[in-house]
Amino acid sequence: MTIRIRQLTKVYKLGVERVHALRGVDLDIARNEFVAIMGASGSGKSTMMHILGCLDRPTSGVYELNGRPMHKMGAGQLARVRNEEIGFIFQSFELLNRATALKNVMLPMIYSRRHWATARKRARAALDRVGLGDRMGHKPNQLSGGQRQRVAVARALVNEPSILLADEPTGNLDSATTHEIIELFRQLHAEGQTIVIVTHEEEVAAHSQRIVRLRDGLVLSDHPTREDPTHRRWLEGQAAAAAEAAGSRPLAQGAPA
Ligand code: ADP
Ligand code: MG
Repeated sequence: MTIRIRQLTKVYKLGVERVHALRGVDLDIARNEFVAIMGASGSGKSTMMHILGCLDRPTSGVYELNGRPMHKMGAGQLARVRNEEIGFIFQSFELLNRATALKNVMLPMIYSRRHWATARKRARAALDRVGLGDRMGHKPNQLSGGQRQRVAVARALVNEPSILLADEPTGNLDSATTHEIIELFRQLHAEGQTIVIVTHEEEVAAHSQRIVRLRDGLVLSDHPTREDPTHRRWLEGQAAAAAEAAGSRPLAQGAPA
């Protein structure tokens, strides 16, 4: 199992207040799965992604990544795992605005002390892979939203992580660009990448193999995408809308009699 989580909890302390963001989550994710995490705002999705991504630690419970106990590791060890095993993509891209696309993608390798020339070569390959081979010298403000998110995807991939985690990666993108990014994820998954993505949109989740829904810090449901009841209702709605649109479309003009 790539990811194994048992009775995971996270309690945030805010002064005297305690926020129970995760209340005992069990979850297994196998290599090469493409999983969508869904749930209302505040249900604990980002908290879970941060723990999966070793950006934060659970309050209690078990998190094993590739068989190693992350819940027992200290900050330094977690930083190393994060750099070597995890690619993380944020809704807000989190790029360095003063650095070119190439430099942004080289950063994780600089942290991992790879040779500069090797780092540059691999960053170029990663940018090529996401279709930005002709934009390597551009800074984030010289790129569209979709292109920025592609740079972030390239940065996430450059150390060949065992899991790619994306927290609402299309949340700041219009629908055409959302399509582009999702198509890229689909392609990465086809090439063998394990992917966990948080999304609000059924349209995005439609490309996953499995939907895990959270509510109030617990797993509410966990189904293959096509068997998820909420997703099925959405698909039926889409089909009905498409049929209606086809039915009401005026007949083609000038067609041969
Ligand atoms: P989601 O991503 O599903 O919207 P989050 O994981 O961000 O949910 O938040 C889950 C709960 O934890 C929410 O009630 C939120 O207010 C709270 N929370 C998240 N981060 C923090 C934090 N750093 N400190 C205190 N409470 C937090
Ligand atoms: Mg969130």
